[in-house]
Amino acid sequence: MKAAYISHPSAIRHDMGEGHPECPDRVAVIADRLLMRGVLDFMDSFEAPPATPEQLGRAHDTLYVNELFAMAPAEGYRQVDPDTAMNPHTLTAALHAAGAAVLATELVVRDGYRRAFCNIRPPGHHAERRAAMGFCFFNNVAVGMRHALDVLGLQRVALIDFDVHHGNGSEDIFAGDDRVLMVSTFQSRLYPFSGEAARGPNMCNVPLPPYSDGQALRAAVTDRWLPALRAFRPQALFVSAGFDAHREDDMSHLGWTDADYAWVTRELVGLADSVCEGRIVSVLEGGYCLPALARSVEQHVRALIDLQ
Ligand SMILES: [Zn+2]
Repeated sequence: MKAAYISHPSAIRHDMGEGHPECPDRVAVIADRLLMRGVLDFMDSFEAPPATPEQLGRAHDTLYVNELFAMAPAEGYRQVDPDTAMNPHTLTAALHAAGAAVLATELVVRDGYRRAFCNIRPPGHHAERRAAMGFCFFNNVAVGMRHALDVLGLQRVALIDFDVHHGNGSEDIFAGDDRVLMVSTFQSRLYPFSGEAARGPNMCNVPLPPYSDGQALRAAVTDRWLPALRAFRPQALFVSAGFDAHREDDMSHLGWTDADYAWVTRELVGLADSVCEGRIVSVLEGGYCLPALARSVEQHVRALIDLQ
């Protein structure tokens, strides 16, 4: 099976200050783990190109994109929201993170790859059409999805978001776009405090109670996501792969394990193999406990590429 691993050196140069949980080591521990465990032997590695303004403009307001270019500091930090800041490398990293999703989309939709995993930061799913927030600047997965629809000619794509935080940015961009089905789980009453009421008929939002474990995820996937996804018949799956619902991650109160990430990924692979020739593009979102993040991503990628 042809599988792609996509990253970029700028991902470890963007930082938001001492002690910030969304830190450069996140992508470094993932890269080290996948290399040391031999997983990368089974994937072709690519360096992400930067996304172009035209590609970004398919998911974001042009004014907002220009604003972000203008805000990028030449030195020091520029605060964008209380949790989100730019350093001199942030804009470059954000452009390559979105570009990674575009390249992954081309490899999977056009070039015969069945799966692609983007090990990138900054993450994207909180970035709205006109706003950076929650550690996110450009909505990477959304830029890739619009590329699949508007440039590569797909008619239906699905977004699966299992980050512990609701993907408000993706919902903002895709609510009412009937070419897209978004299914998600997230901890209720947690940042960004949205998602309990879906903003469009193409949104399948499943809030999970605080202190629930992987059983709640499994029920949501089996009872809610899979029937909706099968009925929609997507031509490719896109995954906002966040690993912050892990029991060892302090960012939330859910109790998922490494095995839950393997399980949910296998379910998505089974679906993709039956409805869309196995096409899956997975893009890193959250995950802040570094050891749990590295292990869970390994489980996710092994399941993606059918590696035991
Ligand atoms: Zn998150």
